[in-house]
Amino acid sequence: MSLSQVASSIPASPTIALNEEARLLREKGEPVIHLGIGEPKNKTPISAILSSAAKLASGDVKYVPTDGTPSLKKAIVHYSEENYDRVVSPQNIIVSDGAKQSLFNILFTLCNPQDEVIIIAPYWVSYPEMIRMVGAIPVIVTPEDGSFVPRFDEIERVVGSYTKAIVVNSPNNPSGMVYPEDLIGQMVDLCERKGIYMICDDIYHKLVFDGIVAVPACKYTQKDVENSKIILVNGVAKLYGMTGFRVGWVIAPKKLVAIMTNVQSQTTTCVSPVMQAAAEGALTGMQSIVESLRLSIQNNRDVLMQELHSFTDVHCVKPQGTFYALPDFNAYCRNSVAKNSVELCQFLLKKALVVTVPGKEFGMENHLRLSYAGTVKELTEGIERMKWALDPNAPSEIYIGDRKLVRDWL
Ligand code: PMP
Repeated sequence: MSLSQVASSIPASPTIALNEEARLLREKGEPVIHLGIGEPKNKTPISAILSSAAKLASGDVKYVPTDGTPSLKKAIVHYSEENYDRVVSPQNIIVSDGAKQSLFNILFTLCNPQDEVIIIAPYWVSYPEMIRMVGAIPVIVTPEDGSFVPRFDEIERVVGSYTKAIVVNSPNNPSGMVYPEDLIGQMVDLCERKGIYMICDDIYHKLVFDGIVAVPACKYTQKDVENSKIILVNGVAKLYGMTGFRVGWVIAPKKLVAIMTNVQSQTTTCVSPVMQAAAEGALTGMQSIVESLRLSIQNNRDVLMQELHSFTDVHCVKPQGTFYALPDFNAYCRNSVAKNSVELCQFLLKKALVVTVPGKEFGMENHLRLSYAGTVKELTEGIERMKWALDPNAPSEIYIGDRKLVRDWL
């Protein structure tokens, strides 16, 4: 029996697969340190707990409108005014099961077979696969200078008659870079001139450091939401540490929202009203929670940079936002230990019980993505173990859990 060729060709999300591997090792009692995971450690904001608990306690948990509950939409309208200075009507909003479903809905709604969608390397792992799933073609722009920020002409060069959209993720997962304001402005102008959609994945937009601001694309358009080519994706997963609640949303012209709503009505019906109540609680509750998270993550970023500084031959561009860094491990990807980032990642998990994610998955071979969303202790111990496993200048003995290990492979 032949199965769908497209579906069969889609690999598992590497980050989710690694989470599972780490979970199984932990279950066996192994002291795994997870520098791969993309979620903050903070507890759910109390306002989100209370509003979802109230919904649950009402016992009235039924189907709700496919595009989102009116009260969550109201909170999103307010959020957009507050954070984007943008007037948004409820018909411009559709709530989905996480920003991931939002992105899939957008791509499914925009693309015909053979349409092209531009993504910028390093990119979030799911973009190319989602683009392929809807029958379109991912066109990857890799900055020629080896940096994590493309020049505008590198993007402009690949735009052709089949280009349907550009996906822009700034602050960027996995590099932590915030794209410069003028680049965002040039992209908005390009999209408006050529009639291309600019899909802005803003899921990390407030997690920025050192006073840097991730300037929203809408600042550069004269057009209102209804006439704009900018499609905005957001959610509660990262800013509020609510990854398990699965609530994201899209802000787009009404016509697109209506099609996405039809699509969603045929696939998932609606997001659970309990989860929508939680998201509403987060958006309308105390916003100092986001600032506290931002500050603790900025501190973690500083600790990580300091630890990496003394790692022989590892170079890391200082992240400006998110909770990821993408250090260059090229020096450790061409020896008997590993030939590429996938092998290096496997080696580190096996020898040092540290989970990292191979740069290959983000379009940047010979790099590793490290998450600093966890605790300072995990971060320092994780890097210490990585140094022990790889760096000939690091001490050759280490304690991992209560086991004393001696490095005998360098
Ligand atoms: N976009 C980016 C860039 C992400 O990193 C993630 C989560 N890792 C998502 C979207 C999906 O977010 P959600 O959990 O809301 O589906």
